Amino acid sequence: MWKDKRPILFGGDYNPDQWDDAVIEEDMRLFEQAGVNLLVLPVFSWAKLEPEEGRYEFAWLDHILNKIWEHGIHVFLATPTSAQPAWLSKKYDDVLPVDIAGRKRTHGMRVFFCVNSVHYRERARALAEAMAERYRDFPGLAGWHVANEYGTYCYCENCQRKFRDWLRRRYGTVEELNSRWHTSFWGRTVYDFDEVMVPDERNDDYRFAPAVQLDYMRFVTDSTIECYENEAEVLKAATPHLPVFTNISGFIKKLNQFEMVPHMDYAGWDNYPAPTDEPAFPAFKHGIMRAARDGAPFLVAEQSPNQQNWQPYNKLKRPGEIRRIAYQGLAHGADSSLFFQMRQSVAGQEKFHGAFIAHCGANSRIFREACALGQELHKLGDAFTGSRIHARTAIVFDWENWWALELTSGPTQDMDYLKQVFRYYRAFYAQNIPVDIVKTSTDLSGYDLVLTPLLYMIKPGFAEKLRTFVEKGGTAAATYMSGRADENDRCIFGAYPGPLRDVFGVWVEETDALYPEESVELVMMGTESGFPEKRYEGRFLCDLFHTDTAEVAAVYGKSFADGKEQDCFYTGMPAFSVNAFGEGRAYYIGCEPDDRFLARFIARICREKGITPLFPVEGEIELTCRENENGRFVFAISHGKETGKVHLDGDGACPGKRYFDLLREKEVSGTYVIAGGDVAVLKEL
Ligand SMILES: [Zn+2]
Repeated sequence: MWKDKRPILFGGDYNPDQWDDAVIEEDMRLFEQAGVNLLVLPVFSWAKLEPEEGRYEFAWLDHILNKIWEHGIHVFLATPTSAQPAWLSKKYDDVLPVDIAGRKRTHGMRVFFCVNSVHYRERARALAEAMAERYRDFPGLAGWHVANEYGTYCYCENCQRKFRDWLRRRYGTVEELNSRWHTSFWGRTVYDFDEVMVPDERNDDYRFAPAVQLDYMRFVTDSTIECYENEAEVLKAATPHLPVFTNISGFIKKLNQFEMVPHMDYAGWDNYPAPTDEPAFPAFKHGIMRAARDGAPFLVAEQSPNQQNWQPYNKLKRPGEIRRIAYQGLAHGADSSLFFQMRQSVAGQEKFHGAFIAHCGANSRIFREACALGQELHKLGDAFTGSRIHARTAIVFDWENWWALELTSGPTQDMDYLKQVFRYYRAFYAQNIPVDIVKTSTDLSGYDLVLTPLLYMIKPGFAEKLRTFVEKGGTAAATYMSGRADENDRCIFGAYPGPLRDVFGVWVEETDALYPEESVELVMMGTESGFPEKRYEGRFLCDLFHTDTAEVAAVYGKSFADGKEQDCFYTGMPAFSVNAFGEGRAYYIGCEPDDRFLARFIARICREKGITPLFPVEGEIELTCRENENGRFVFAISHGKETGKVHLDGDGACPGKRYFDLLREKEVSGTYVIAGGDVAVLKEL
């Protein structure tokens, strides 16, 4: 077992209960050849481990685990509780979920149980106890992986009962519930908690009441955390020295991962970029996952070694693509590069999903690339594991704000919080300026620059925190749709951005929704430096706002539809402003500006704070820097076809001039030339 520091974890999901001994032997030989050091199993094998209630069959798993360890490969042992056996669904009526349409679902799907089911939890815990007892001293055990990709919503009677209890605990009295939910609108007053129904499709009022929906999403998140803890606490008690976590599925918006992940020893997330995603998008998602445990290293728990099978069009990974995806995860704070899956299954729903070892066997392009990656990661060892990224800039992302903003009816059907926040992230990313995604609970005092795009929901304490941040000299930037509602989605009376009005020195009177074909000019007043062009373009939503103390930096100009000028009654009103507040500055952006504006804006506010790109680059090169007790590590990833350059001697956040190229094992300095599609890890000397 790894004694102190762990190397980069490399390997992934292995489902050997499908194979005979000969195949498993062959797999072990190939895994060793590929430099695999970790396997995750048996994720879906509850039916095989407990064929009837209370009768466990561990011999087959003992046999496989011993074989794996004979080859020096560690395991994350998975409690296989995301796929309950048929006998459990059949025997206990509370196990299968009731869907949003009120239909009791049938057995056969994975991650398909009621997270509040008493019998599910009893049997899952008993299995976790049996596994902990049996394998706690297994020398190859590196950690516990609980279940898989939680995310089922249930609307059964048991959930309804528990939801009422949850509300009672949260609000105490029905009067408080009525106030928080503002039930006087549409006469939905509740006289007793027993009158609260789950917001399913049988109940249109609740289904479309954002306050009820928000609380149901919070309740399901809390129920899922309890369900996870039900197993995790058993495992933690048996092996307190080992990490326990579950893999979270990419971006399951409906579970608040910022609430769940702090209960785990790792944020372990499944990274499946769509073939059409630009490289900045998975980088952004890594940033969100890094935020879940406040900047701690995370795990890439799954990624695809080749095509997926569930996208509309399942593109093959291009030569070199797996390597770039793997290094991008590491560059943004991951300590692993784990894949789904190790060997392609013969049949089933994911039989065409890519694997290290495909149906054709190991004589394949993908297996050769996996081997090359494994050798490289082996060479890197534990040099930068445990390291962190240090950024002076932050973008606030709030999971419940995501829910509330998109539950709201109006002002536009195109609201997409993730996409909107991404535009601001991308402006930093494009300039290789390190940026942290942070939660509303994060201490902002360590940052110089904080952006709060579309922060519609202002939770208690946040406005005060941002106010103090700006007062003490920080630069803040907010946008349209800011400061509109409290945590129960009750709108703020007075004017938006509510409690932040004095910080930004503006008040919003109205918001206009633009059709997708419409745009409006942003005409600069010439007061802000760094905007060489006079006119930029705005789209999506336009706040019609007034300034209290802020200075107007741009106004709305002409309006267009499909390129033709049209009347606009708010031409000449403020569109972009800056307010001096305390020792800091607070910018307000009234509409969704174009990328040109954002690039200028981010460059301008960073320059003002002395924040520079990591290094000057030529070409499409992504740079990050991680730091631990061994020093600083610069990651360079070329996403272009052409040769690029990193000027290691240029002005940048890293003061050192000499580096050691860990992959090529040589000292480098000056201009570092990187081939199109290549990667580099440079240790500062
Ligand atoms: Zn339920």
